[in-house]
Amino acid sequence: MPLDRLVTDASLAHVARRLRLLGYDIDVHRGARFEELIDIARADGRALLTRSSRRAPRSANDPELRIVTLSGVLADDVQLVTQQFTPASAPLRRCTACNTPLQSRSAFEARGEVPGRVARAGGPLTFCPGCGRWFWVGSHVTRLRQWTEERLGRQLEAPEGTTPPPPVAGDEQSP
Ligand SMILES: [Zn+2]
Repeated sequence: MPLDRLVTDASLAHVARRLRLLGYDIDVHRGARFEELIDIARADGRALLTRSSRRAPRSANDPELRIVTLSGVLADDVQLVTQQFTPASAPLRRCTACNTPLQSRSAFEARGEVPGRVARAGGPLTFCPGCGRWFWVGSHVTRLRQWTEERLGRQLEAPEGTTPPPPVAGDEQSP
């Protein structure tokens, strides 16, 4: 059974953001050394994604520890991870900035917190209780769907029971 919880460092933060959009639970520990990442992976039961091809000697024979070496090339890395791991969440339901699962909120609740045109549209919105960001459906969702189909050769599945597609990061992630 593949692990569905992941951890990496800042060198793969761009890959982590994309994986979160696809529903993956992935912690990013900025500035952590390789040995520290191994300790975190072991303590949290997470698979370690790294750009380092080094292998710590004490991790070599640990069957509990799974380390995947990535290139840093976004499409290649995302494809490799999606082939080996199962996402913990539905797509577009996890904060791209801090990895926290998002909460559904009404447009009324979002008034004053999001651009007026977004609140007036009345569409579904989500809120991150971890970092306070709001998310909504935007043109980036269309771009993400195109990217997923073109680069991964698969559909970006909508979470069950949600049509139209659910909210996603409105601020910083564009495919
Ligand atoms: Zn957040």
